[in-house]
Amino acid sequence: RGAHPLVTAVEPYDRLLGGLLSPDFDDRSCLSRYRAALYRRPSLHVLSSHLVSALRRYESLHRLCGPGTSAYERAVSRLRSPPTPSNTSDAGAGASPSGCRYIVWTPHAGLGNRMLTLTSAFLYALLTDRVLLHRSGDNLKDLFCEPFPSSTWILPEEDFPIRGMERFDMRTPESLGNVLRRGEGTQEPPPPWMYVHLRHDYTRSSTERLFFCDEGQDALRRVDWIVVLSDNYFLPGLFLIPRYEQELARLFPRRDVVFHHLGRYLFHPSNTVWGMVMRYHGSYMAMAEERVGIQVRTFKWAPISTDELYSQIISCAHGEGILPRVQERETSNATATGKLPGSGQPAKRKAVLVVSLHGEYYERIKDLYYEHGTAGGEAVSVFQPTHLNQQRTGEQLHDQKALAEMMLLSFSDVALTSAVSTFGYVSHGLAGLKPWVLMSPVGGKAPNPSCRLAATIDPCFHSPPHYDCRAKSRGDDGKVVRYVRHCDDFKNGIQLV
Ligand code: GDP
Repeated sequence: RGAHPLVTAVEPYDRLLGGLLSPDFDDRSCLSRYRAALYRRPSLHVLSSHLVSALRRYESLHRLCGPGTSAYERAVSRLRSPPTPSNTSDAGAGASPSGCRYIVWTPHAGLGNRMLTLTSAFLYALLTDRVLLHRSGDNLKDLFCEPFPSSTWILPEEDFPIRGMERFDMRTPESLGNVLRRGEGTQEPPPPWMYVHLRHDYTRSSTERLFFCDEGQDALRRVDWIVVLSDNYFLPGLFLIPRYEQELARLFPRRDVVFHHLGRYLFHPSNTVWGMVMRYHGSYMAMAEERVGIQVRTFKWAPISTDELYSQIISCAHGEGILPRVQERETSNATATGKLPGSGQPAKRKAVLVVSLHGEYYERIKDLYYEHGTAGGEAVSVFQPTHLNQQRTGEQLHDQKALAEMMLLSFSDVALTSAVSTFGYVSHGLAGLKPWVLMSPVGGKAPNPSCRLAATIDPCFHSPPHYDCRAKSRGDDGKVVRYVRHCDDFKNGIQLV
């Protein structure tokens, strides 16, 4: 069946991932949900029973408060006609009568960024007993399955009273920063909704940063609806807020696998995307004994020539034993055919998946192993599903292919990725692998050493607040708690270790 060699067809497998997934879904509506485990390396990362029960509790809350329920209808009508000081009863100023509170997430930026911010918003929902809904628009159509049983996480937009959320920015009057600047953080009754602006430019506003401080959290706690727009994996920032510290420690005794668990809980590709993944895997990757995933991403702000980047990839892959070295000149018939002397079989079959917007790196790696035999007799086959040349986020087929490629990368046994790419963060996060990271070029040149084994599986939060809430001045978020450090691949960022 083309599954991972570590899993045989007859061996029962852990379809619920140790309790991470709910058993309450129909398998056929989302084939990937219970089957991805057959193709990925089994997770070695312990799941806390506290996280498992928090997820089941969250699912009940979502069922109770999600779209289509009377609680949801009531909450939306309160949003449409919010209580005013004159019609608010003494008893529950501002408190939602149903107890249902929401966070609405709006898609923004590339797919990797969207998956990371959605995960951040979900952890925030878990910590604050809110229900996570997202605007699907055309952006997320036929990409993911529903993650929560017997409900939907898609916001019904037709009659939702808050409009134009995709255009919100720091000038939006309802933003947390603006509310606090106007001194309305404790006003009675609280506003029906607030906007949390966490796009990378939020750090320019001294009050938007207060999301990561008690003052911001106190203001938000009083509000039934929160709208969030972000292009950042802001999740590590939640670990800096003292009030969540204890609960986070129980949910994640090991902090470096937060995205690994939450990502595998939330993101199940739709049957359309899973079809692509299975066809590609079955045709090219399934027969290999080892799968190497190489993700090559370039950014305008870190220019590097194709020759230089190719050399960096090969120097890392050979130097770290990720790919076998080749023989410059053939020494025997055996190596020329990729076979060990005396045996009819190659020493090992390695399948290399190159994932990139560009085709050159795949071409060159493929040619290398076509033109030369390997020193140890391994057979190396090299594949690239697409090379779309440019980013076209929001186009359905483009996003579906991008997701399929993230999934294929997540089946890897070894990962080699470009620095700073959220596309890469998602892929190896789902795999549960510490990748070898190709460090960003300096002055157009690859640094030495060309790559480093990542210190953590968890993604980097590129724009942390760097704000000391107590001193009310600039701070260094990489020095506040033991398990939040500066990122290896992006020094200004922070990540969980
Ligand atoms: P980041 O820019 O690397 O942090 O990753 P994002 O996923 O946020 O944005 C990049 C977007 O470009 C992706 O969502 C894809 O649409 C596209 N893209 C980048 N690299 C690849 C690739 O290797 N394969 C495919 N299919 N799309 C890619």
